[in-house]
Amino acid sequence: MGLTKSFVLEALRGLRGPDGSPALGGDRVVWVAACDGYASVKLQHAGDAPDQRRTAARTAYDGLVAAARAAGEQVDALVVEFVDHAGTVVQTERFGGSARPAPPAAGPATNSPREPVSAREQAPPPSRQAAAGHTPIPGLNPGVSGLEGVAHVIAVGAGKGGVGKSTIALNLAVGLARARHRVGLLDADIYGPSMPTMLGLGGLEPIVREGVLEPFLSHGVRCMTMGALVQPDKPLIWRGPMAHGAFKQLLEQTRWGELDYLVIDLPPGTGDVSLTMAQLLKLTGAVIVCTPQKVAQDDAVRAARMFEQLGVPLLGVVENMSYFVGDDGKEYDIFGRGGAEAMARRLNTPYLGGVPITTALRQNSDAGNPTANFTGADTPGTALRADLERLVRNLEGQVALASLRQGQTRPTLTVS
Ligand code: ADP
Repeated sequence: MGLTKSFVLEALRGLRGPDGSPALGGDRVVWVAACDGYASVKLQHAGDAPDQRRTAARTAYDGLVAAARAAGEQVDALVVEFVDHAGTVVQTERFGGSARPAPPAAGPATNSPREPVSAREQAPPPSRQAAAGHTPIPGLNPGVSGLEGVAHVIAVGAGKGGVGKSTIALNLAVGLARARHRVGLLDADIYGPSMPTMLGLGGLEPIVREGVLEPFLSHGVRCMTMGALVQPDKPLIWRGPMAHGAFKQLLEQTRWGELDYLVIDLPPGTGDVSLTMAQLLKLTGAVIVCTPQKVAQDDAVRAARMFEQLGVPLLGVVENMSYFVGDDGKEYDIFGRGGAEAMARRLNTPYLGGVPITTALRQNSDAGNPTANFTGADTPGTALRADLERLVRNLEGQVALASLRQGQTRPTLTVS
């Protein structure tokens, strides 16, 4: 089931020292996010020396690992941020999630470089575990509120693969660019990047200038994809820490320039990349893609809960493969049109709209020509175009609302 926010909160609050007093002393847990085996907490603990905070963070980590082990769960990584009374982060400590093997002196448990450190695998007594040196997550960038020059970061996620998440992310990006916005697209689906095909990047090699990647410009969108950095036929066996590093590299070492929107196509499910993203960026919000069927909705709800736990606002739900438009122009309801809309209502989240299954969409994706989705003149093409344009308009509206809520934009009052 993975760590949950309440489990982490209870474990930390329940920590007791040898005399039965709260082990974290005067620390107050003021914020918790948890997802799968990853957790991030904020402790209000200002005024102490850095090494006292370090010890407190270690106590929190050891306590969480022990509680998780007792419950049959595992802790892959914990980030502890100490905040002062104003909420400013004054110190950050990180445990687990290292891509490097544990130092040999640490005892018999050495970890494969590809595997995250886990409580289940390691399971040494706390004292030895402290020595085992859960080295920090490499290069995690604390306290970053966003990318310089980028106004809005929007994540596109889905509960599972194959629902058309990348297709929707790409078409949202192209649609926003057609609406005269400056748009970037980061294909963070590092387990199976599809953008090189869908954007028609072919065998283009990325250009590196002064150690920074130049994004590809395709269909009006500046894009970067893991697919450009790895051989497409090589199996991608990215594990947590590697996923973290790859995502961070793509995000921070690409010359995005000034952007109104950066759309991030996340890997399906709930996991490492989403957590890394939430730690590195302050997102305007997330879009969830779902097909109408009940089974797809259950997975999408899990993705929604993950965003909630990561503190990422939901901008809305998109129903892909909502209906089928035949060459006869008729609309056929195959998977139970409206299922995702009903789910959005249950989640109290806006419904951004549906997109039909059309042969054109699949063909244009395979041909790397998403612009054609916005120009289709035949009957199925017209329906597709109208639906995509509605999606883009609704997303623009939700972004504006989310910005207002987050205090990024002041409402303009027109007095007449
Ligand atoms: P995901 O990112 O969720 O794994 P993709 O976006 O890669 O899914 O889509 C999987 C396949 O389904 C692709 O071949 C894509 O072209 C096709 N596809 C997605 N949405 C539609 C649609 N509405 N109509 C037709 N084909 C679609």
